[in-house]
Amino acid sequence: NDIPAITLNNGVPMPRLGYGVWQVPDDEAERAVRTALEAGYRSIDTAAAYDNETGTGKGLAAAGVPREEVFVTTKLWNGRQRTWRRAEVLEAFGRSLDRLGLDHVDLYLIHWPRPMRDDFLHIWEAFEEIAASGRARAVGVSNFRPEDLARLGERSALVPAVNQVELHPLFPQAELRDLHGRLGIATEAWSPLGQGGELLRLPEVADVAGRYGRSPAQVVLRWHLQLGNVAIPKSVTPSRIRENLDVFGFELDAADMARLEALGSGPRAGRIGPDPAVFD
Ligand code: NAD
Repeated sequence: NDIPAITLNNGVPMPRLGYGVWQVPDDEAERAVRTALEAGYRSIDTAAAYDNETGTGKGLAAAGVPREEVFVTTKLWNGRQRTWRRAEVLEAFGRSLDRLGLDHVDLYLIHWPRPMRDDFLHIWEAFEEIAASGRARAVGVSNFRPEDLARLGERSALVPAVNQVELHPLFPQAELRDLHGRLGIATEAWSPLGQGGELLRLPEVADVAGRYGRSPAQVVLRWHLQLGNVAIPKSVTPSRIRENLDVFGFELDAADMARLEALGSGPRAGRIGPDPAVFD
């Protein structure tokens, strides 16, 4: 039950592997989160937009793991309205806490930059307040591009603890990871398994997996860990929930890391999810 942690830029530890609950219906989230916690996960990633904060909170309560041992992330659904003002952010955050049944979260993220709305700087002012209040132990962003991070950095001394972005071997985000490293922002990979699609069926991935006697999902997660990413794979299948956590007992060698990295410049490379430049 020892999931290694990274230390965020404000000193708060964050498990390097967590459990994501996007697309888990609210009435299934309780069981899924409880299964994950019983399997040994100590980090749960939800969002107001996932409509399952209530079920997630019930799962946290049902599993009976002490609150201080679980790292809980949620996100402001900033696509819900055209632009946001400070008070509205604080209200939305309060509603997330209420649904989760918690008095604080460990990480609160701006879900998308929506650069065409030009409001994330205002949202971040509210996030500064939330961080100062201790109701989120850390605050960060999601889907932010280098130019979005630069705008934030010009206006605020509070560097996001995390940028949670689409990242997997078919979309390895090497430049963004490098920028995060220089800025002191942790890289968190969403859809770390490429949403369980063609990535896990590629012969190159099967080939690497075969050499370690591991599954495709396990070697992809191992690739994330060895790059220094935080990864939050999702599954509602108990055996896969456990399989995705069983990735600390082996190590990919440099050649296999390179084989997986090469997929990012191969013919199948590209995003699966939306482009943050235009997603609204
Ligand atoms: P993922 O890459 O984690 O893939 C999940 C899918 O892969 C599962 O539904 C299943 O079909 C398959 N799978 C899982 N484990 C497997 C295994 N061991 N063997 C074979 N197949 C397996 O995709 P995801 O759910 O999109 O991303 C993970 C989490 O990231 C989400 O649940 C959510 O918390 C977060 N996320 C955040 C954003 C954002 O904008 N911030 C966007 C998407 C996802």
